[in-house]
Amino acid sequence: MHNIDIIVPCYNEAEVLNIFYDKTSKIVKEINGYNFNFIFIDDGSKDDTIKIIKDLASSYENIKYISFSRNFGKEAGMYAGLKYSTGEYVIIMDADLQHPPSLIPIMIEGVEEGYDCVAAKRINRKGEAPIRSLFSNFFYKLSNKLTDIKLVQGAVDYRIMNRTMVDAVLTLSESQRFSKGIFEWVGFNKKWIPYENVERTVGTTKWSFKSLFKYAIDGITSFSVTPLKLVTGFGFFISIMAFIYILITLIQTLVFGIKVPGYVTTLCAVLFLGGIIEFSIGVLGEYISNIYMETKNRPIFIARETNICKKGNISKNEQNSKNN
Ligand code: UDP
Ligand code: MG
Repeated sequence: MHNIDIIVPCYNEAEVLNIFYDKTSKIVKEINGYNFNFIFIDDGSKDDTIKIIKDLASSYENIKYISFSRNFGKEAGMYAGLKYSTGEYVIIMDADLQHPPSLIPIMIEGVEEGYDCVAAKRINRKGEAPIRSLFSNFFYKLSNKLTDIKLVQGAVDYRIMNRTMVDAVLTLSESQRFSKGIFEWVGFNKKWIPYENVERTVGTTKWSFKSLFKYAIDGITSFSVTPLKLVTGFGFFISIMAFIYILITLIQTLVFGIKVPGYVTTLCAVLFLGGIIEFSIGVLGEYISNIYMETKNRPIFIARETNICKKGNISKNEQNSKNN
């Protein structure tokens, strides 16, 4: 019997959790030869999420949970789940049923075929706000141009991984996490399962446009220094152009004498260069802020409560947790 841990990050999912557990457990019960454990991560929810998880845990032995001291974000939730998981295989899935549990048997077939990871990929974005789809398509194109890792269009976090891959993912302990990139960066052989996007029927998305924008910037800056090189290249290009312009102006002045100074030209140059300088400082700032946050070496999450008794190394994060 292989053990499979199903990691479910939850933030304010009280409305959907029972339905999620019913549907998912029904499907996994049909799969022979595997033991399934659920690891729910309560990411500092403000509703009754933790109460529902605890109720489930008191009824079913295979329900584990970690409750965070505050909201640390889905990335931290997935990391915590992987860190506390012990199964030979690990599945990560959302609580809102947008990741169809019916794919679990197909995913398991994939790992049985010998794949290290079987991941789900949306083939459409039905029901999503057009502006979000547009922004997302642009991000994928930009990220694939700027970074060495190739993100797959429509790839979601819903996947099964074997223990070797999970351990590899855990070696990347950066605090600014971008799991979509990390899953690609670690390599391993992957199989993609296409699926039709499922609209969220209960609750609301936890992503605001601002948080998605920050996520996209983090995604690019954590896997590529190309923006820094572009800034250098652009600076070099502008210096060459400026030098040529200076030469032309000097020659014109020597040949035709001094004309009335160009007010418009000066203003354009000042504004243009001002914009470029601000932008370049912004790009530098992004990297410096990443360095700053990483050097603090703060824990990725702080567990307030868990029913998982993990043997072996006690990490910095787990020292903050209180087993009960
Ligand atoms: N989530 C989380 N912490 C957060 C935001 C979201 O654990 O700060 C969980 C959420 O409960 C859900 C999953 O991450 O299970 C995906 O979130 P959501 O459905 O809001 O994202 P979307 O599907 O819109 O990308
Ligand atoms: Mg969702």
